[in-house]
Amino acid sequence: MSRVVVIGAGVGGLTVAVRLAGAGHHVVVHERSAVVGGKLGRYERDGFRFDTGPSLLTLPQVFADLGLDLPLQPLDPVVRHVFADGSVLDSSSAAEEFVSRIGAAFGSSAADDWRRFWKRASRIWAASWHSVLHHPVTSASLAGLAWRLPDLAAIAPGRSLRSLGFRYLRDPRLRMLLDRYATYTGADPRRAPAALAAIPYAELHFGGWYLPGGLHTLADALLTRCAALGVEIELNSLVTTIETEPPSGRPADDGRNPGRRAVHGVRLGSGAVDTADIVVADVDALTVYRDLLPTPSRLASLADRSLAGFVMLLGVRGSTPSLAHHTVFFPNHYDAEFDAVFGDPSRGRRARPADDPAVFVTRASDDAVHPPGAEAWFVLVNAPPHGTGWAAVDWRRPGLAAAYRDHVLNVLAARGMDVRDRLMFAEVRTPADLADATAAPGGAIYGTAGGLVRPPNRGPVDGLYLVGGSTHPGGGLPMVTLSAHIVANLIGPATG
Ligand SMILES: Cc1cc2nc3c(=O)[nH]c(=O)nc-3n(C[C@H](O)[C@H](O)[C@H](O)COP(=O)(O)OP(=O)(O)OC[C@H]3O[C@@H](n4cnc5c(N)ncnc54)[C@H](O)[C@@H]3O)c2cc1C
Repeated sequence: MSRVVVIGAGVGGLTVAVRLAGAGHHVVVHERSAVVGGKLGRYERDGFRFDTGPSLLTLPQVFADLGLDLPLQPLDPVVRHVFADGSVLDSSSAAEEFVSRIGAAFGSSAADDWRRFWKRASRIWAASWHSVLHHPVTSASLAGLAWRLPDLAAIAPGRSLRSLGFRYLRDPRLRMLLDRYATYTGADPRRAPAALAAIPYAELHFGGWYLPGGLHTLADALLTRCAALGVEIELNSLVTTIETEPPSGRPADDGRNPGRRAVHGVRLGSGAVDTADIVVADVDALTVYRDLLPTPSRLASLADRSLAGFVMLLGVRGSTPSLAHHTVFFPNHYDAEFDAVFGDPSRGRRARPADDPAVFVTRASDDAVHPPGAEAWFVLVNAPPHGTGWAAVDWRRPGLAAAYRDHVLNVLAARGMDVRDRLMFAEVRTPADLADATAAPGGAIYGTAGGLVRPPNRGPVDGLYLVGGSTHPGGGLPMVTLSAHIVANLIGPATG
């Protein structure tokens, strides 16, 4: 039996703990904060219960063999899209139903376009699922993969998601809908790979789901499962260093590569060292290679950071029949949002909060998350991460968060969703707040942004592995869970 230390009790850390404990390893999780779940956070106030992070669960099949009892509730529509011209399109996980909704909203040629696009998206999904999402991937291994030629043609390396949209979709509203999926990986659709068309396919082919009581109940379920498997979870336990030892310091027959440095354990904030045969880091790869195990060669490839989010948690009096579970209100000029939140140093433009952003509202019809006569709204707007560089914003600047809160409420009002006189409270979570709560650098939601190649799951020293949204295969609950499956498979079952 190996002793495994997991750093961080986000979904990636908890899932890998479940998988490894189930495979016979002794697993200890160190979590710096007082709660588990990481970005999958929960906030309760005055009878309201908010998810502060994820609101949409996709690909539930990746959670299937974890022994969790998830009361999945399918969503229809998965998302309601409200466009600046007043048109509305409800997405559906029944492909033909969605096509007919597109036809009714935008006309038959738009429906035909979507049908053709969907065939392409299905090929991209199949290629990604088989070749990329289940396996550890590095630039070298990706290049060396025995891609089937039709898979390569479908993925179209070098093409952007934006150009794929132009290739298939004549209606600008459908292109906007597609562009939005790049931001699900924290990326700009004008630069993100066309392969990201796999995301809408995953969402709409396999459906979008809610968990009654809120998505945070997934973290509760993982915690319960960890307890049943004997995983030790140490809360308020900060890891400051990943400790390693040179090859000569180890017994020759410890089963690991005799020529490489290997992990020895982790140093905690208290100064104590918790020794381990294997360390799995569920913290941002930037944190690993900058702070916990400084590794300049790996740091160099982590420059492309994901977007962050500006979140409002609203207690709202009354009811709002025109909202679906998820509703996105699009602006007239979507590119102005990307120009603002990503910045552009070549034109001397710093990143800034968008003036006219797309606004995503989640409002669950679930008595468990609000008091009678009221609604709990989670409002999310893409935003630059917190920091001082050209691509970031200092979200601690006095007055900025409150001013932007008021601005976004005005934007919603201008789009026909005026909630200002029904507010019981409006709490804000800026990227700086997310950075404080979860140690995500800059409050970036997905760590590294959007490409096919992300920091690998195998670390640069023996016995070190990386899971979570900043590593392969990417961010979002299902991808993070897949990263945990990949790492558990790399480590294998306990022996002896
Ligand atoms: C606003 C928002 C909306 C989102 N919406 C969706 C959605 O609708 N659907 C979806 O699928 N995904 C969504 N996501 C993304 C999803 O939440 C993340 O991809 C996923 O939860 C990340 O899990 P993780 O395991 O990678 O890491 P994290 O959740 O970041 O967990 C890392 C953990 O490590 C701990 N830690 C950090 N440093 C240390 C240290 N040195 N020592 C000990 N512990 C440490 C942190 O405290 C944290 O608990 C959203 C995220 C946000 C923020």
